[in-house]
This record gives sequence, structure tokens and C-alpha cells, in this order.
Amino acid sequence: MNETSTANVDAAEIARFEALADRWWDPEGDFKPLHDINPARLEYIDERVALAGKRVLDIGCGGGILAESMARKGATVTAIDMAEAPLAVARIHGRESGLELEYLKCTAEEHATARPAAYDVVTCLEMIEHVPDPSLVVAACHALVRPGGQVFFSTINRNPKAWVMAIFGAEYVLRLLPRGTHEYGKLVRPSELADWMRAAGLELNEFTGMHYNPFTRSCTLGGNVDVNYLAHGRRPEQA
Ligand code: SAH
Repeated sequence: MNETSTANVDAAEIARFEALADRWWDPEGDFKPLHDINPARLEYIDERVALAGKRVLDIGCGGGILAESMARKGATVTAIDMAEAPLAVARIHGRESGLELEYLKCTAEEHATARPAAYDVVTCLEMIEHVPDPSLVVAACHALVRPGGQVFFSTINRNPKAWVMAIFGAEYVLRLLPRGTHEYGKLVRPSELADWMRAAGLELNEFTGMHYNPFTRSCTLGGNVDVNYLAHGRRPEQA
């Protein structure tokens, strides 16, 4: 952790998301890829947990794209982030959409102390590559989900192909994302995420590749995990 960062929060990362907050719900704006991939990842989660009636925590929710969509499926959603402005945008958007979500400014680790084992499902998508020590977030996810509950992560792999596609291609050539959104050294290999999950006591169910085509703006799941991928895990009943 650098000196401007405390409690496993990278202040520069948070500042970047603060500055972009007003663009969060523009489907053609800086978060276009998140809007485009959301239906596929939402279905992936819903097929595995049946969201209706479930208590769900979304960690690193930003402006609430995933959190709102899970609430629309009938889940009771709490969503947390460390950036104020995206949370403010999320609260307003949720209210205007007639949805009831709880948005809180806190870290996963803090929330794990406040509400241990309080959730049936924990989602933490496109977030762990922005924190100083992702293993602590993974451990917090284990603490937050009830025994038998399910956990989802998504992130970007770290290898030359991922650099070409997710950083050089997306940020510099196609300008899909603002430059500096992703830092190569902070990307996460599936083997690393698997190790952190195991160390935290989470069972790994599967990794699934996520393939976004910026030209057709479609997203398909399955196949290789070379670039973007989802991880699905579970807290064992006896833990
Ligand atoms: N999960 C959302 C948004 C991803 S953008 C989605 O997939 O649609 C990453 C988010 O993680 C940003 O909103 C950023 O503010 C948040 N974030 C980064 N570091 C964090 C931390 N340590 N604790 C909580 N949120 C964090």
C-alpha cells in the first residue's frame, strides 16, 4: 500500500472513479462496456442463485449498474463502494427507478466486521484489480456470505494477450475506457484468485471466460479465461 492509501484502499483509484461519476449511467459514455456486459453477467449470476428474494451484497458497486439490475430481479440489495460521487449517483438513479437499495460507503473488510454472514450472495465484479491487496477483499467476501452462500468475482487476467486487449486495445486504440483505468501489474491471474479463495475458505466452483466484442457490443460467456473472466465460488456449509 502506498502512503496515501489506508485500509486496503488506493486513493488514486478512488479519485479516478469519483471524477467519472456523472458518466456512470450514460450507455454511450465511459462505462459503456459495463452497460454492455451487464445483461450477460446478471443472467450468469441469476441462473446460479435465483436472485429473487435473496439478500445480496455488491462490493465496489460504483454507480450501481449491477446492483440495480439484481434488485430488479427481486433481490434485496446492499451495495458498497469507497467513492462518494458514484454512490450519490447510484442513490439518485435507484430512487428515480423506483427501486429500494441500500448504498453504503465502506470497505468490504469494514462491512465484514459490521455484518458477518449476513448475505446469501456476494458479488464483487471488476473491483479487485483496483485494490492494494485483493486477498483481503476475498477473505472479507467469505466472512460476509452465510455458510452455503455463493460468491462471484470478475476481473482481468494478467498476460501479454490481456495487456493487448484490455489495456492497449481498450484504452489506447478503441478508447473504450479512459486511459489509466487498468494497471497491468494489478491484473489478476485465475491461479492467484483461486489461491486467495482457497486461503479464505471459499470453494471454487468454476472460472468462466467473458468475451466482449466492442464492435457488436455483445458479450458472451464461456471458453478461455485469457482476458476477462468470472469466478464462481461458495462458502462451505461447515465453515
Ligand atoms: N462493480 C461495478 C463497478 C466496477 S468499477 C461494475 O462491475 O459495474 C470499480 C469500482 O470499485 C469503483 O466504483 C471504485 O470506486 C470501487 N473501488 C475501488 N477500490 C475500492 C475499495 N477498496 N473498496 C470499495 N470499492 C472500491
